[in-house]
Amino acid sequence: MKFKKLRFWGIIMAAAISMAGCARTTSVDTTLSNEAEVSGPTETPEATEISKATAATEVTEATEAGRLVAGFVIEENDTKDTQKKKMYPYVVRTESTVWYLAADDIELMGEEAFFAGLEEVLGMIDQDYADARKALEDYISEEVQPVVIYTDFCNKAEISATAGAYCHPVSHFIKVFGDWKQAEYALLHEYVHYLTFIYTKEKPDSNFASEGIAEYISMLVCENRMCKKANFGAPEEYLEKLKNTDFWDAEEDAIKLKDIYLYNGLVYANGAYIGQEYQNVELAIVERTDEMQQYMHANDCSYEEAGCITAYLVETYGLDTVMDNLDKNLMTMSEMVYGKEFSEVYKDFVIWIALISG
Ligand SMILES: [Zn+2]
Repeated sequence: MKFKKLRFWGIIMAAAISMAGCARTTSVDTTLSNEAEVSGPTETPEATEISKATAATEVTEATEAGRLVAGFVIEENDTKDTQKKKMYPYVVRTESTVWYLAADDIELMGEEAFFAGLEEVLGMIDQDYADARKALEDYISEEVQPVVIYTDFCNKAEISATAGAYCHPVSHFIKVFGDWKQAEYALLHEYVHYLTFIYTKEKPDSNFASEGIAEYISMLVCENRMCKKANFGAPEEYLEKLKNTDFWDAEEDAIKLKDIYLYNGLVYANGAYIGQEYQNVELAIVERTDEMQQYMHANDCSYEEAGCITAYLVETYGLDTVMDNLDKNLMTMSEMVYGKEFSEVYKDFVIWIALISG
């Protein structure tokens, strides 16, 4: 599951821009609203969503079938389930994915914009997904099957209230919410969930382990063309400011993904979130307190902290150690595997990230 970044961009950007000496501000965008937390994913496309299906629209007549998008054929959905066919009239198959395109999403965006966004994503996704498989190849022993992806830009799934995208923990399909930009921001992260939910020897059984490895592989190991294309999901107003900072690659005219990601981790490590709300790896909106920062618990970590701490653990103890212990709770196994309690691991991580970011 990938969180929706928008509401936290104020804090991240204020810190990043401040560090870069562009605009001296540490203020937080207080216009960013808090949404209620929702419970974990429970729905399946077969059950809940079909009950939410709306009336047929003209796009359900599969007028686009046969068309080529980024070299891939838009196929008519040949399922015998008429409701599902109505809801997802088109299917696209690539090397790593099987897409189900929602009629409502095409109607929402308009055919031209919908298929233009799809084309951009299809042009990058197989390369990005191959990179993730390569990064985890020593831990995957069988052939990885294409992952099923549903578009849900109408945000029908309940989890879309807090998540930008998600990979169903039982059915293992990916669902993308919001728009194509948000999808580009999240799709590789969700694919790492797919790989670790099914194919790695040890499966993550805590949110920290699950989000940590997904963030680490997608944001700090792989090039992540899609996320770079979406400029890390940053809203335009912040992108303009970023262009005057060291976080902008003028040559590529794109955000420096790894640099800004590590800087995000540094912002948390330095305690900049004390007194501020943020979203933790359990997707809960919480306020970071002094005491939390002093004695960090794995569940209190943000996505960026989990990703950067996983990078620290890989660099210090090796990827084999991290992958072999993916199924163990860091709070109880830390002493045994890493020789110290998690709060001590966190303190060492703070020193590490300050060094590599400096
Ligand atoms: Zn996730």
